Amino acid sequence: MSGAVIIGAGQAGVQTAVELRAAGYGGPVMLLGAELALDALLMRGPHFYSEQAIALHQGADVTAIDRAAKSVKTADGQCFAYDHLVLATGASARPLGCPGADLDGVMVLRSRADTEALKLRLEAAARLVVVGGGFIGLEVAASARKLGKQVTVIEMQDRLMARAVGPDVSAFFAEVHRQNGVDLRLGDGIAAIAGRNGAVSGVRTSSGVDLDCDIVLAGIGVSPRTQLAEAAGLGIANGIVVDSTQRTSDPQVFALGDCASFPNPHGDGMIRLESVQNAVDQAKIVAAGIMGHEARYQAVPWFWSDQYDLKLQMVGLSQGHDHVEERGNRADRRFSVFYFKAGRLIAIDSINRPADHMRGRRLLAAGAAPITPDEIDTHFAARRDT
Ligand code: ADP
Repeated sequence: MSGAVIIGAGQAGVQTAVELRAAGYGGPVMLLGAELALDALLMRGPHFYSEQAIALHQGADVTAIDRAAKSVKTADGQCFAYDHLVLATGASARPLGCPGADLDGVMVLRSRADTEALKLRLEAAARLVVVGGGFIGLEVAASARKLGKQVTVIEMQDRLMARAVGPDVSAFFAEVHRQNGVDLRLGDGIAAIAGRNGAVSGVRTSSGVDLDCDIVLAGIGVSPRTQLAEAAGLGIANGIVVDSTQRTSDPQVFALGDCASFPNPHGDGMIRLESVQNAVDQAKIVAAGIMGHEARYQAVPWFWSDQYDLKLQMVGLSQGHDHVEERGNRADRRFSVFYFKAGRLIAIDSINRPADHMRGRRLLAAGAAPITPDEIDTHFAARRDT
């Protein structure tokens, strides 16, 4: 028996190894992490892996998958044979494509190492330009304002976090960032980054505005790491394509987490989610599949983002909604927006209303009865002020 080989020792990979053992998998579990797999060690500690008989191979940079031979090869010439292969290759921060993008001081935020590098750099900096008004960009903007730095956020679209929240919530957050002194530029992009002695000195926006700065943070989304899967002939479309059991076009090969594109159980088409919850839920499905049990992904997606004193929590996917209800008090910075499609609740964005979020997670779960707009107060009113 060759066992299970997991490529990628991030959240999704580690969790799959854990779930395999929890499900009683008796074969070898090999977890291959490029570089130092620092995240894997920080998540569980070195003893955990030996106790669970999970072979953590750090620095195992997989270069090819041979599906016919059922094995993978690494850059340093090792070969790992598998019965089941799990692709947990994650996603990498999208780099800026403009001139000057390679200057010292242009940063991304994805790994722990990125976080440390940005922290250090921010200490010495006075001015930061953030490109991208998504979660990453706005969280960094808020932290940098708390440190007293001058912050500009440049967002291509006409509203913030457009991928994740509804327009009212975007508008609320735009106001909060402006109140906190962020120079927010919606509907603008970055044309070029200027440098002095190889380091960032400023940016020019697409609309022609020149801004001085010491750091440019690119928070413009991620690209799923699909190269290995693609070279192995697996289906790719905005990620490694899997079915609701997390199987790729090869039934012995699974994919999960940030790199996997799966059928949306609550709507149309395929989705790819970048969240810890998603990695954890999908790891259970993968482990069940390898154990020969049929399990299907049905979880309701949820996310969170902390900015200033605001805890933004989202459950469900609001795309395609045709009706909105709002409860709570914006002035107090505690409110929830409920999204409906064809008369049924599909998603909730909550700001400092964790009870609404938690209740929403239960009420939107698979098998729960649909909630109509009239029923909002019945289900959520009692918690209005919690
Ligand atoms: P992240 O996880 O990096 O925050 P998101 O997808 O949540 O990723 O947000 C990325 C944001 O960056 C989106 O709002 C998108 O419109 C914006 N964006 C993408 N490319 C550019 C660009 N070249 N200039 C400005 N904004 C951009």
